[in-house]
Amino acid sequence: MSLHAQNLIDGRWQPALSGQSANSIDPSNQRVIGVYSASGVADAQAAVAAARTAFERPEWAQNPRLRQTVLLRWADLMERRADELARLLTMENGKPLPQSRGEIAGSVSEIRYYAGLARYIPGHVFEVEPGAFSTLLKEPAGVAGLIIPWNSPAVLLIRSLTPALAAGCTVVIKPAPQTALITAEIIKSLHEVDGLPKGVVNLVSEQGHDVAAYLVASSDVDVISFTGSNATGQRIMAAAAPTMKKLSLELGGKSSCLVFEDANVAEIAPKLAAAATIISGQQCTAARRILVHASRYDEMKSALKAALAGLKVAPGGVAGADIGPLIDAQAFDAVSSRIEESMEAADEVVLRGERPGGDLADGFFMGPTLLAHRDTSAFFIQEEIFGPLVVIEKFEDEKEAVARANHSEYGLSASVWTNDGARAMRIARALRNGTVWINDHNKLFAEAETGGYRRSGLGRLHGYDALIDFIEIKHVFQNCGTV
Ligand code: NAD
Repeated sequence: MSLHAQNLIDGRWQPALSGQSANSIDPSNQRVIGVYSASGVADAQAAVAAARTAFERPEWAQNPRLRQTVLLRWADLMERRADELARLLTMENGKPLPQSRGEIAGSVSEIRYYAGLARYIPGHVFEVEPGAFSTLLKEPAGVAGLIIPWNSPAVLLIRSLTPALAAGCTVVIKPAPQTALITAEIIKSLHEVDGLPKGVVNLVSEQGHDVAAYLVASSDVDVISFTGSNATGQRIMAAAAPTMKKLSLELGGKSSCLVFEDANVAEIAPKLAAAATIISGQQCTAARRILVHASRYDEMKSALKAALAGLKVAPGGVAGADIGPLIDAQAFDAVSSRIEESMEAADEVVLRGERPGGDLADGFFMGPTLLAHRDTSAFFIQEEIFGPLVVIEKFEDEKEAVARANHSEYGLSASVWTNDGARAMRIARALRNGTVWINDHNKLFAEAETGGYRRSGLGRLHGYDALIDFIEIKHVFQNCGTV
């Protein structure tokens, strides 16, 4: 298979204006699977201009019924191609095929969720004084620039794009270079929908960051919805300041899992191992720190070591694969050197992750590493290391467990493992995180808002409140007098 991802600008698929393209690589064997347009600022300008013109017309921004129809038709088209899309996602990103299937199914479900909401974005009216009416109208915010990462490129695209479209925005999508092909294939289905006005959805891929930087700086872009690393999030926030645009920032995390003395260690160790190694540890909410009550610590350390060691490292298309490759050579080198440094500094190396040889030698595969450590200020307890690294820590009581977990600049997600219902709620309330799971981890839904406290970001995606990022509220006042 060889795919060609072009740009979509003003309703027309086209190569980059420079004519340049770049390769997309299968991270499990480094083979080229297709090419994408290596665009620049001129392509970004054309896409923003098309999105602006489309936004100024009433046919999309003021037509919620059309928006719903388009989204529902798109969901049907994507559902028909679900298997093909899941296979491409696994090929380009490396994740196991069942996870890709789940991601595509979740994306289809989310499109339908926002299709419903497109027709329910009411404002309100009230009488402030006799005969004087204040109308609060929810209007689409304008042109939205969507900057998407590679780790879950389907669902993270959908969770920004569908609330933007439901609200009546027009968009310019900038995919991660590593997953430009799957992004273009998903957008192809949307482009095929009867009734989608041209210029509403634009897509521009690139190798570097000029297109993304243009979207952030442009005064014709009203909203940036960015999912990615904290470092890039900070750069975007600074670069967006002069134009004061609305920002939705979904950034990194360092999730803690708090395991109390009444938990069933044998049952939950495999669940924690899976939560830590999802997408090879390249998920923002992946379990990174396992905090265990002192009375069960040794038992959990051995059970977790066994569970992690038992996971199958293999290409995502192989049946039974648990851990696919990391996304590319650069990620592999950065993560391996950080894990090497962590192993040198840790109190104990419980399990050392190796790079497999043989048939897997050409891929960016990495086995999981488990460290035990006490000091929460260690860099590998504080820093998001985007790979299969887990740290186990010991606590004596609830207070210490919460203090340890909250000792983090991040605040994306955490989980609590106990059969004591009141304790679970008490701990969930005390944790400074946007999401807390009880006896579970990594459960994300179209209906449930997710986002970060502290340095994990700004705003929420998923759920009704994701619409807030793509809406302005206008106050219209009229004194009508009385009869
Ligand atoms: P990244 O920040 O390197 O890149 C993300 C996107 O930003 C890509 O499209 C990239 O091309 C673009 N980009 C890079 N530099 C830019 C710049 N200077 N200006 C504008 N855009 C720029 O992140 P990544 O490595 O692709 O993704 C992994 C990170 O994403 C992790 O930190 C992870 O925790 C985070 N993430 C967060 C969530 C969440 O929901 N909070 C979800 C998934 C991933």
